[in-house]
Amino acid sequence: MTYSGKTKVLGIIACPVEHSLSPLIQNYFAGEAGVDSVYVPFRVEPENLGDAVKGLYALNVSGVNVTVPHKQAVIPYLAGTDDTASAIGAVNTLVRVDGGYKGYNTDAEGLLISLKERGVDIAGKNCILIGAGGAARAAAFILAREGAAKIICLNRTLSHAQKLMSDISSRFPAVKTRALPLDAWQDITERDCLAVQTTNVGMSPDVSSSPVEDERFFERLSFAMDIIYTPPQTRFLKLAEAAGVPTGNGLDMLICQGMAAFSLWNPGVALPKEAFDGAKELVKNFPEENA
Ligand code: NAP
Repeated sequence: MTYSGKTKVLGIIACPVEHSLSPLIQNYFAGEAGVDSVYVPFRVEPENLGDAVKGLYALNVSGVNVTVPHKQAVIPYLAGTDDTASAIGAVNTLVRVDGGYKGYNTDAEGLLISLKERGVDIAGKNCILIGAGGAARAAAFILAREGAAKIICLNRTLSHAQKLMSDISSRFPAVKTRALPLDAWQDITERDCLAVQTTNVGMSPDVSSSPVEDERFFERLSFAMDIIYTPPQTRFLKLAEAAGVPTGNGLDMLICQGMAAFSLWNPGVALPKEAFDGAKELVKNFPEENA
């Protein structure tokens, strides 16, 4: 690509940001769609977040992705959020508008599309959500909106799980909810559950950990999704596979949320059909020590 004064500047704000695959994916999408844009990583320390958002606006940056640890903290610095992001209480995509940035959450849609691709139907399902952070909020929202019968949230800090489940109950009264500490998984009596793992446990370089190790946990599952994408097959997914449970990984979700962000920044520009598989190949071949 050649860049000029007209090139649209996009990026990602995170801390750390060095592991992010989004520059690779978004610059690939731009090339495939023939869009004149460049997507760069910005390492933003938490104490500099407000200044960073102002600076991006002053520098005429068209949009950014937002990831750990800024997804919730960035909201007060925005000109607004769309309905899905407001309901989730976390954003991962900012789009430049008059006077600032509007926040969106494409993680939720990315998770939904990647589950659908694996043939998973959420309606009427009992779901086990592991984690209660920003990504868990997006996952809980999508599970509830798509008609899960029940969501059981397991989390290290019980109060975070309780808060998330209480938010979901208020917004989706038909969905039953329960919050449990991570080590109380044996209290789950439901079977045939869809599990969505959203904690950082098992993420590179801590690849030998899983939030739940006991094989009896996996007897409760009919599908296991881990949204971590480095490594693509976490220990949690290895344990699920060993128990004969079908699995899905975070790479599909990452690419799907990236496609949704691309559409927000480039309204009316269609990505070629092959872009999903192309991005997957690109990311698979990316050396893990750089991811
Ligand atoms: P976050 O808001 O910081 O939440 C982290 C969650 O992990 C919390 O529930 C936290 O529990 C739990 N946790 C952290 N360390 C733990 C430990 N040692 N033992 C047990 N639980 C632990 O982060 P996030 O934004 O939700 O992101 C979480 C993961 O999702 C990251 O790996 C991220 O890369 C991945 N992700 C993937 C995609 C994708 O497209 N595939 C999209 C978004 C995020 P406490 O409440 O007790 O602190």
